[in-house]
Amino acid sequence: MKLLLKERKSSILSPSTLKCLSDTYTLNPTAGCVHLCSYCYARGYSNYPGDGTIVLYTNITKKLENELNRKRKSPGFVYFSPSCDAFQPVKQILDTTYSLMFLLLERGIGVSFLTKGHIPDKFITLFKSHNDLVQAHIGITTLERRLQRLIEPNAATPRIRLKNISSLINIGILPEIKLDPLIPGLTDSTLNLEPLFKILNKLGIKSAGINYLFLRPIIHKNIRKDLGHTKVLKRISQAFHNNVDLSLLANKSRVKALNSYFRKKQYKCISSLAESYNIKTHVCGCKNPDVTKELACRDIWQKYFYKKVSQYQLFDS
Ligand code: SF4
Repeated sequence: MKLLLKERKSSILSPSTLKCLSDTYTLNPTAGCVHLCSYCYARGYSNYPGDGTIVLYTNITKKLENELNRKRKSPGFVYFSPSCDAFQPVKQILDTTYSLMFLLLERGIGVSFLTKGHIPDKFITLFKSHNDLVQAHIGITTLERRLQRLIEPNAATPRIRLKNISSLINIGILPEIKLDPLIPGLTDSTLNLEPLFKILNKLGIKSAGINYLFLRPIIHKNIRKDLGHTKVLKRISQAFHNNVDLSLLANKSRVKALNSYFRKKQYKCISSLAESYNIKTHVCGCKNPDVTKELACRDIWQKYFYKKVSQYQLFDS
């Protein structure tokens, strides 16, 4: 892995392009991500430095401080990170993430993150003293280490992600679980999901977001490249071949979606499996507009942060 240190010219806080986060600022400490998940859409972004290269912005904390000082009102919370993981296992990246989160939390600004990495102890200590300002999302779709390593080669093991969950719960932060993306024929089976729901329930998890993989051209290319000629690749190809819907998103963006009948049926099955372990699941309309109009992720953010930070503005108009 090559770490390139660069000065960032553009602003640090960016308005989100995701519908669910449309009134929120997001922040990416790096371009590129060490985890190198096969299904990562950010590997197709124009600023992606290429597999194995990470760009870390050296001036990012200072720039964030300047941007916050210039704002009339503080943002309510900041989301880490739409196109990288804030907890990549590289000391310089973790130090940068820590200084960014520290700056935000010390100013009373909420921090929300989604991670498949290991959250080091010093972050847990930081979050403990600001636990009402931290919202954690933990991505996990399997307990099978071999399977996880195949699709997310450099991300934290399932065991470490479970440890993240219990460390957060111990300091009063109940994380939201993201089973996203579920890969058809691979991670969406009862055999794979039941032991996961069972252990999540034991840890005290109450809710989880579920979403199927949407096959963008870059993801299709990377899955073929990363998984080679394994049986796994055949199973994924088969599922998309049998259930593909080219009409949902494909006309303009060439994204292959599993057809809505298949997704609805599967989401229902997965939801009732989760419910048997007292876990409520939700499907978000930002990624599945043909399944639901509800913006479930946004509702969760709103419930968590908006009432706490109503004295702040969410977004500069
Ligand atoms: S952790 Fe997220 S950003 Fe990083 S490679 Fe995986 S999907 Fe992409």
